[in-house]
Amino acid sequence: MQIQAQPQEYDAIVVGSGASGGWAAKRMSEAGLRVALVCAGRPLKDGDYREHVQPYELKYQARANDLIRRTQPVQKDCYACTEYNSSWFCNDIDEPYTTEQGKPFSWQGRMRVTGGRTNVWGRHSYRFSQQDLKGYSFDGAGADWPLDYKDLVPYYELVEDYVGISGMVENVPELPDSKFQPSMPLTCVEDKVRSSIKTKFGRTMTMGRLANLTKPINGRQPCHFCGPCERGCVTHSYFNAAFTTVADALKTGKCTHIPNAMVYQVLMDKATNKARGVVYVDRITRETREVRAKTVVLCAQALESTRILFNSAPDGLANSSGVLGQYLMDHMWVAGGANGEFPDMPGKPSLNAGRRPGGPYVIRFRNTMNGEKHKAFLRGYGYQGGSAINFAFGAPGFGQAYKDAVKNGQWTMNLVGFGECLPYKENRVTLNKGVTDVFGIPVLHFNIAWGENEKAMIRDMAVSAGEMLEASGAKNVKTFALEDRVPGYSIHEMGTARMGSDPKQSVLNQFQQAHDVKNLFVMDAAGFPSGACQNPTLTIMAMAVRSTDHLMEEMKKGNL
Ligand SMILES: Cc1cc2nc3c(=O)[nH]c(=O)nc-3n(C[C@H](O)[C@H](O)[C@H](O)COP(=O)(O)OP(=O)(O)OC[C@H]3O[C@@H](n4cnc5c(N)ncnc54)[C@H](O)[C@@H]3O)c2cc1C
Ligand code: SF4
Repeated sequence: MQIQAQPQEYDAIVVGSGASGGWAAKRMSEAGLRVALVCAGRPLKDGDYREHVQPYELKYQARANDLIRRTQPVQKDCYACTEYNSSWFCNDIDEPYTTEQGKPFSWQGRMRVTGGRTNVWGRHSYRFSQQDLKGYSFDGAGADWPLDYKDLVPYYELVEDYVGISGMVENVPELPDSKFQPSMPLTCVEDKVRSSIKTKFGRTMTMGRLANLTKPINGRQPCHFCGPCERGCVTHSYFNAAFTTVADALKTGKCTHIPNAMVYQVLMDKATNKARGVVYVDRITRETREVRAKTVVLCAQALESTRILFNSAPDGLANSSGVLGQYLMDHMWVAGGANGEFPDMPGKPSLNAGRRPGGPYVIRFRNTMNGEKHKAFLRGYGYQGGSAINFAFGAPGFGQAYKDAVKNGQWTMNLVGFGECLPYKENRVTLNKGVTDVFGIPVLHFNIAWGENEKAMIRDMAVSAGEMLEASGAKNVKTFALEDRVPGYSIHEMGTARMGSDPKQSVLNQFQQAHDVKNLFVMDAAGFPSGACQNPTLTIMAMAVRSTDHLMEEMKKGNL
């Protein structure tokens, strides 16, 4: 391999421009550091966003899913990957991975655009609680985080102020409140369910806490409820690192963006045991290049960062503990829940109604700090849900009678669980040295399956969702529990380079700094020792800011 070296040495390299990398680059370049933002993605412009494009304007009118599947069979399993935006996701044939026999894993959301997954994410944004960070102390499973909730609070606040999270204050300890913009409204059905489950079960259904603006921030406009945020947003009304943190970093003039750059390895200086840069393959020219810096920060998404570490040394870089790759987690989503009908609720379906970009959220109520312990499983789950009044296209009849019947749609509502998966040592990724991607980079091999705890939780998600809908007056309630739901569907991969205070048991310290290599940081979710049941990105961002600030302090002190 012929590597083309670059003459310049940066203060820091940030690999990946998504939720975590955007923050690391913004924070450091605003502080005056010279940053190279090296990312596999290509930049998009506002003109590439297609949230207002109609299906008939597309070549295949959004009906060509089988065509997409030919090259993106895994990416297409992600609900957000459609004809509108499939070119933002990787080509699964060019960038494969392997799985253990009989243990499938669906590695969705492998984005190849600036901003990474934040281009298409669902924007549900929740803090983790002290109980979430100290699960081991609470029930003995997994490991505690090497920091406390109070350590994260100032960083949550800083991120929330900048990102803009709309939501309702609830004062429920299992889901600490954020600094909110005004909430989006609940529908009449959701109001009814909220009050029924509060009265009958003492549970809280709140409006989803969404990174969609209801007030302007920094020139970004409030959401106008057009609906399909996963196609982009010309008014920049949801949080996407591409038009927020990354744009801010580039504005400083201190940040050099190197797009289309597939990082392969971290380069080490053997004499000092320090990282001295990275090697990447240019996705367009296929040339191999080197970038040098005083510090390296991996933010390529948990699994891609771990892959880079595995590819950087025979047994994995920063892996004296042997823990690298282990304790892979994902949430259990679309695995358990229920839906029901509300024929008595008023309203008419409309083609012109606003489309709220998100739904309600039921806060975790199982195995809470002061509540009853569930006999069948540890930890808990929340529900994301939604209600809608739909046209009754399946109504019987024809002619005018059918036309009238179609307009008499009725309200339906669903609740779909998001459950915490325990961190198991056996659930892991390793490097498959025998298989490479189209760039010649060895790929990951997955070995993960839900355990009995996860399966019991999935069953309970279905039962509880059904009970709550029925207690709220829903008719024709149907529950589902898919214990064999393939891991990966929630697209919340966490772990594989976990944080901890003991270097023998963990890869990173509480500042996501490698125990073994002091100028190497991994600031995505690879460091999470446990995953809570809340969506992880708000915590990924708060952690990235905290760790970046620590990095800069250490740099100032000459410790890196
Ligand atoms: C459809 C969908 C819905 C989601 N909904 C939610 C939600 O509602 N709430 C929530 O909290 N989370 C949600 N997520 C997850 C969320 O998007 C991620 O947790 C978050 O973006 C992860 O941040 P990150 O910085 O680790 O990675 P990303 O944001 O994915 O950024 C990683 C970047 O690294 C780049 N990269 C990858 N490999 C390399 C390499 N080898 N070299 C150089 N660059 C590389 C990628 O191109 C990308 O730009 C969702 C994700 C998807 C796909
Ligand atoms: S729903 Fe709101 S945030 Fe989403 S694309 Fe439309 S305007 Fe943007």
